[in-house]
Amino acid sequence: MYSPKVGDHIDSLDTPSMIVDLDLCEANIKKLMDKLLPTGLNIRPHLKTTKSAILANKLAKAGAKGGCVAKVSEAEVIAAAGFEDLLITCEIIGPAKVKRLVELYRNHRSIRIVVDSEIGATSINEALKASGIEEPITVLIDLDVGLHRTGVKPGDPAMALAQHVAGLKHLKLIGVQGYEGHLQHLHDREDRRSQCLQSMKILTDTANLLRKAGFTMEVVTTGGTGTAEFCATVPGVTELQPGSFIFMDTDYRNAVGTFYSNSLTLLSTVLSKQGPQTVTIDTGLKSLTTDSGLAECKDPRYIYGVLGDEQGSLSWSDGTPDLAVGDRVEMVPSHIDPTVNLHDFYYAYRNGVIEEIWPVDSRGKVQ
Ligand code: PLP
Ligand code: MN
Repeated sequence: MYSPKVGDHIDSLDTPSMIVDLDLCEANIKKLMDKLLPTGLNIRPHLKTTKSAILANKLAKAGAKGGCVAKVSEAEVIAAAGFEDLLITCEIIGPAKVKRLVELYRNHRSIRIVVDSEIGATSINEALKASGIEEPITVLIDLDVGLHRTGVKPGDPAMALAQHVAGLKHLKLIGVQGYEGHLQHLHDREDRRSQCLQSMKILTDTANLLRKAGFTMEVVTTGGTGTAEFCATVPGVTELQPGSFIFMDTDYRNAVGTFYSNSLTLLSTVLSKQGPQTVTIDTGLKSLTTDSGLAECKDPRYIYGVLGDEQGSLSWSDGTPDLAVGDRVEMVPSHIDPTVNLHDFYYAYRNGVIEEIWPVDSRGKVQ
């Protein structure tokens, strides 16, 4: 049976395979920590990128405090793998999901959640009441700071929701979350900074408003790879949630530059020669996502095109060395989170040799 091992050379891997350059990946972690730890803020990396308990532990070792996950099903897997200090950053709605949350919380009391509606908060409170679990679950109000994806609106609606949550015995309100996802990829750094500060003003003003009304607001959590450094300058922000920095992708590289490196590539094989300067490789829609544009070959002289589910093309111009059947190339994903979700394992290597193999624990956990 095919079972790559630590100590094998990456040349022996079948393809497509996600490979991680450990030197670059560790440097990304160090750069983030060196930049953000001195601010004194908690760093709670978003694990929607790596979907890996091993990487969550590596980040914690480097200075992170806990992690974020997007969904309850992700939290189930990461918590079962032993990493329990998790904030679930998406709303938990519907009886099936609420039931799963309660069962998760029964065994993992450090799980925290967000709410943006009275109906959502009430249903979780009711389910906890029925469960017999005494300890209230830690809750943050999810605030819309401009993304218009989820989050209660600032001002009166946020106040009304806080008052509602405060009246629910099985929920313990400790703060607010406001994610400015619409700003992460703004190319102009000054534009990104100034718009981020506007979103942070909405977030911290709301936290102050609720604090003045007597609510505990000890956690004010926000930020992604493109904005964390700006969020960190704002008094009142307590926690940062960057995720993609660990591997990066072409979309982020094009937007925020090369401070963090593309540490993850998809190792691919040339399957067929289709013209003097065109070959077909074994990576298509099922192995590289295209929502943020097409992936790029690590060697930029070869231009990628999608040919379908299973394959893509690489073409080149005069003066570039020819690719031949059997050659291997590395592709850089355009959007890291959904690309990782297409694969089972990471092969982390140094000097061409596999040092660690990490399962993508919460692959496919979208519920
Ligand atoms: N926080 C929340 C709520 C998110 O949805 C995301 C990503 O979508 C992040 C943080 C991490 O952002 P990034 O991967 O851009 O660093
Ligand atoms: Mn993403």
